Amino acid sequence: QSTERYAVVTGANKGIGFETVRQLAASGVTVLLTARNEKRGTEAVSSLHGLGLSKVLYHQLDVQDTQSIQALASFIQTRFGRLDILVNNAGASGVIVDEDGLRALNIDPASWLSGKATNIVQDVMKTTTDKAIECLNTNYYGVKNLTQALLPLLSCSTSGGRIVNVSSIRGELWRIPNEHIRKELGNLESLSEDKIDGFLEKFLHDLKNNELEVNGWSKMLPAYSMSKAMLNAYTRVLAKKYPEMCINCVHPGYVDTDLNWHTGTMTLEEGAQGSVMLALLPEGGPSGCYFDRIHVAEF
Ligand code: NDP
Repeated sequence: QSTERYAVVTGANKGIGFETVRQLAASGVTVLLTARNEKRGTEAVSSLHGLGLSKVLYHQLDVQDTQSIQALASFIQTRFGRLDILVNNAGASGVIVDEDGLRALNIDPASWLSGKATNIVQDVMKTTTDKAIECLNTNYYGVKNLTQALLPLLSCSTSGGRIVNVSSIRGELWRIPNEHIRKELGNLESLSEDKIDGFLEKFLHDLKNNELEVNGWSKMLPAYSMSKAMLNAYTRVLAKKYPEMCINCVHPGYVDTDLNWHTGTMTLEEGAQGSVMLALLPEGGPSGCYFDRIHVAEF
């Protein structure tokens, strides 16, 4: 096997994903920059080529689309025959901010919606069932389906595959009011993929029936928070199942990106550091852990 390392980064046309590709490529890794939109993806690749990072390639990937996932897996199989690093970075917030809400708060919609906000205003963030489902499908099921499809290629990596799941402090267990859910998600002994899926189905049921609060799900950004809490739990289950790999999740920090209308305070460079560190872990590195940027933290 060659000493070349091959990586996939999802949702990499902008934000933390784009910067993760840049830093990995600068470390000598061959990186597939994936994006759901071809124009946005190829433009991102061109800008990295412009920086002299010629080992960056584009491939289309919508993590909500199983055909798109299969096409990526086939491409990697044919072109590289294996995969060394998977960074599950693509994410959706699960909320919308409408103009009426902004006006009610005296915020200029033009500046907020064009991404020039200076403070986060929870009151104007609204969840609809469609947005919540999109969020769960991207942040949890999307990660799971893609990982499942790429695991055979990751297991061909001689250095042991590396999986980095980009999570959030919103998914930390202490934030979930319901003690039963908190305990079950925190108990690695009894945790399983089926159990996690069961919790998400219950969450969706409660969301549709307007019973989130009464059943003790996270109040703030509920779909986003639960998608990340489930992602963390999935990370631990996977790490236990594949002890030869390093499989971890990471909160990138509060980073200045479109996802939070540029209210984040950290730079992209700082935001990508955790993902890059975990992608490049040496053999025998930590697995099944949650990192707050570059430091191990409590789930
Ligand atoms: P951005 O909005 O800048 O980037 C999100 C990326 O995900 C975009 O490239 C977007 O593509 C892509 N994406 C969304 N849906 C899909 C999909 N179905 N298939 C493929 N790609 C998709 O946000 P960030 O860079 O901030 O977010 C990166 C990760 O970091 C996310 O997982 C987020 O939850 C996490 N995070 C970010 C924090 C922050 O402060 N910024 C804090 C905590 C966690 P497109 O351009 O086509 O929409």
